[in-house]
Order: sequence, then structure tokens, then C-alpha cells
Amino acid sequence: MDYKDYIAEVSSKIGILDVIGHYVKLHKQGRNYVGLCPFHHEKTPSFTVSPDKNMFYCFGCKATGDMLTFVRKIHNVSLAEAVEIVSKEFDVDLPPWHMSTAASKERQELLRTLKVVAEAFSAALQTPQAQQCQEYVRRRELSPDTIQRFSLGYCPRNIDDLIAWCSDHGVDEKSLARAGIVQRHDGRVSSPFAHRLMFPIWDSVGNVIAFGGRAIDGSMPKYTNSPESPLFSKRRTLYALPLAEPSIRKEGIAIIVEGYMDAIALHAAGFHHTVASLGTAFTEEQATLLKRSASRVLLNFDSDEAGQRAARLALSIADRTGLDVAIVRVAGAKDPDELLHEPGGSDLYQLALDQAIPAGDFLIAAAAAGKDMNSVTGRRSFVQEMMESVDAMQDSLLRTQVLTQIARRVGVREEEVLGMYHKGRTRIEQPVAVDPWRIPRKSLGHSRIPTGASLQSTRSILERNVAHGLIHNLDRLPELLPQLDELTFQDEVCQEIIGVVRREASGGTALLAALVAQLSPDAAALVGSWSLEDHKLSYQGLRDTIVRLQLLPLVMAHGDSAT
Ligand SMILES: [Zn+2]
Repeated sequence: MDYKDYIAEVSSKIGILDVIGHYVKLHKQGRNYVGLCPFHHEKTPSFTVSPDKNMFYCFGCKATGDMLTFVRKIHNVSLAEAVEIVSKEFDVDLPPWHMSTAASKERQELLRTLKVVAEAFSAALQTPQAQQCQEYVRRRELSPDTIQRFSLGYCPRNIDDLIAWCSDHGVDEKSLARAGIVQRHDGRVSSPFAHRLMFPIWDSVGNVIAFGGRAIDGSMPKYTNSPESPLFSKRRTLYALPLAEPSIRKEGIAIIVEGYMDAIALHAAGFHHTVASLGTAFTEEQATLLKRSASRVLLNFDSDEAGQRAARLALSIADRTGLDVAIVRVAGAKDPDELLHEPGGSDLYQLALDQAIPAGDFLIAAAAAGKDMNSVTGRRSFVQEMMESVDAMQDSLLRTQVLTQIARRVGVREEEVLGMYHKGRTRIEQPVAVDPWRIPRKSLGHSRIPTGASLQSTRSILERNVAHGLIHNLDRLPELLPQLDELTFQDEVCQEIIGVVRREASGGTALLAALVAQLSPDAAALVGSWSLEDHKLSYQGLRDTIVRLQLLPLVMAHGDSAT
């Protein structure tokens, strides 16, 4: 079973609407479904799904493909991982070819090792050796329910115990070493996690992909994480995401904190829509992960300098991804964990959430901080700094709001700041995109033989028309392709599309989604947009175009102008 058969089988069990509808709210529009694009920032839906074609296409950012392409993009994963996610989430068998590559075998092996290790840690927490860890857990008021929900565990001080437990459960020391859990030097075995409280870190569908370990006896460092691996990248991971996602989806809001303990404390206090950024700055990849279930993000970083810098960076990312972002400030510079252990802590935290500072206000406060806003110099440097932030903003509504606030802050009229903004912006005209289908047929040069530049454009229009026509007549490729044998295509995108169509058709039929999956982004975008058209280019029309193209002389040299 190859990719084509797998897609066909998956499609027969679950539709593209089930998969994409899991992440994007879709509305029926004619034969297709539309929704807000998860891959770019938009206010009106241009993301289109065609259940007939099993394809999606975004008229805004030109993202296109089949359901596996969608899953790859939304989870930021490889094809192998996308297949696993679809198989797991929608209960479809993995295709037999899936395990064939060395990379995916290694991945499966690593996932299995980490799953067993997580179970070993969990079991170890219940043993007498874990006494000090159990005391720590009690002191931090982690309930048995929380321990179970977060699969907390203990890494024994004696690593031989861990190795023995794992080997009883089918995982040898070599696999543990490959997963970064143990290492052996001069015959002595050790682990960076020895005698620590262990937090399994999951990917977005609940596989254990790494661990965090917290010291329980004051040793340093306080936290140790698994190293980056083919499975684990901090930038692409949000701690507790699979636990939090149902609530995030329900509320449309995600709370982001820095550390494990903050996330756990918030979940325990009923704030189930919380994830942790694992001590990194909030990244664009993490924002993408949240965008599929949240529209609003509340950032609650530590109130120190580093936290503020991280929050500022986060704002620009969130603006780019279209998430509504606000900053949560906890009174007295406490972290959430600390606050929640005080009497009335969760009410105070809810209050802090309700009073979250909108992105624009936060930027303004940050830019004004440390400047003498009573002096002309101070105000000028404030405006300059703000203009840079404003210029980077994609959301025009947010931009206008911030410009208004800048004007208010420096005490000038709004129009003045707006004028400064527009004057300072260098406008680069976009080249006008020509859609060959919009050009009237009679301008294609029936009556005279085109030469030079006009020949070039006629040729490229006809070539595109042929490629376009093929996409609409995939069922008749066996008759059509031989007619193309004598033709040379000069347009690179057409060359690519026709090459891929030929390759696919050699197996009999060509599947649209499989074609798109093999094309470069430009060519894929073109084919994606063609595929969603309501009208169908006729077989006869396509044959006529092929004949016209056969009659057209080749353009010999580029840039050869008509004389
Ligand atoms: Zn888009």
C-alpha cells in the first residue's frame, strides 16, 4: 500500500472534513466548506475545504494539500508523524510502509523507550526509596489526583534499579542511553535525573517525548531537561498541552506560564486551560500549536526583566499569528504556584486574569519605561521605538489602536502620529499577478503570429492553460498525455506540474492530493486553487489548447524583443 492507497483508505473511513473540522470551525458554502485559516492571520474566511476533492486551499496564504499535509502543517511534523497522529486520533491502522524507513523505526523505538521509562518513574515514586521525594510532593501539596493526571514520578538514586525495572519491561540499557536517560563511564552508570521528581513531557497528542527533573534536596540545577532530540524540541513543545487542549478549545483561551509547577498548580486550582513554555520565550511554533484551539492567549511570565523581554517577543509573534494576546501580572511579583497556595489564591488569580493587560498597552508601557516622557528627547525616542513595533504589526486594527494610544501618551493629535506613520513607511508596489484565465481569448493572437515578448506571454498562457486543463481532466490522462509528447514546456511551473502528472499517471490514475504533495509550494498553490474551481475545463477545450500550443513557435531566447 503506497501513499495513494493509504490516503484512499483513510478517506473512506474518515473524511477530510472530520480531520480539518477537528482544528478549524468550518461552514458550508456551496459544495465547499470555509473557515478562518489556521496558517495565516485573517478576519474573514478564505480557507476552503473541498470534500469532493479531498483538498484544502487557502485563498489568502495559498496553503494547500490533502488531510495529511494539513496535519503536518498544523502539528509542525514530518509525514511519518502526521500518519501516526491521524492513525492514533482517528483510529485508523498504520499503513505497512510506515515503519519502513530507518528514521521512523528509530522514532518508534525512542517513543516506546520513553513510555516505559515514564512507567518506571511512576512506579518508583511508590517505593520506600522515594521517601524524600514523597515528602517533597506532600510539602508542595500535590494531590494523588494531580500526581496521576501529570504522571509524576521519581528517578531512583540507584540507577541500577531503574535499569533492572526497564529491562524487565523489555527496554535495555542501550535504549535508555540513546534516550538520554542513563550514561555509563568507566563501568559506572549514572543519570542526570537521579534522585529527582520527574515530569514527563508530551507531544501534542500525548506521547512522552522528554522529561523534566526537579531537584528535591536543594541540589543544582533546580531543573534538568532531556536534551533536544528528533522527538523533542523545546521551541515546538508546550508542557501539558494534551491535558489542557480540551479546556483551551472550550474556553477559546490559553494561559501560558513558564514552569512545570506553575502549570500543575493552576490545573489543580481548576485553571485547566494552562500550558507551560518550558522556560523558553514563547515561540512562533508554540503559537501555531495553540492557534488551532485558542483565539486568546494570556501570558503569565515571571515579572522580572527576562520575563518582560520574553513577553514583548511573544506579543510580536502572537500578532503575526493573529492570536489576541494579553499579559497577566500577578500582584507582588509572585509566581502562580506561590499565589495559589495563599488563602483566596485562586480568586486573586482569576482577578489577575480578568485584568490582563492588552498587547498594545503593554508595548506602550514597556517603551515608556525608563524614558523621561516630559522631555522632547524622551518623547521622540518613545515614538521612534513604538513606530518600529507598529510597523512590524500585521493586524491593522491593533496597529490603529496602538497609534491612537501613542498619540495620547505623547499628547499630540492622532492625525499627527498617523501622518508620521504613513510618511515613514516605504511602500513597495507588489507586481501585478496576471491570471491567464482572465485574459480575453481574442488577445491571445489568433490573427497574427506573435513574436518576441508577446510570443513569450502567449506561450506561457497556453502552457498554463494546458496544465490547468490536465488537472481538471485527470480521469482522461491516458488519452491526453500522448498528445503532449511532442510538446516542450518552457514555463518552469508547468514543466514541474506536467512532470509530476506524468509520473503519477504511470501507475494508471493520478490522485490530486498525491500530485500536490509532490509539488513545490508555488506549483502546489496553483494546482490547489485550480482544483477548487466550481467549473470544469472541458476535455475538448483542452485538446484545442494543446493544438494551438503545438502550432506556436518556440521562443528561442529570453528577453528577445519584437522588431
Ligand atoms: Zn491561509
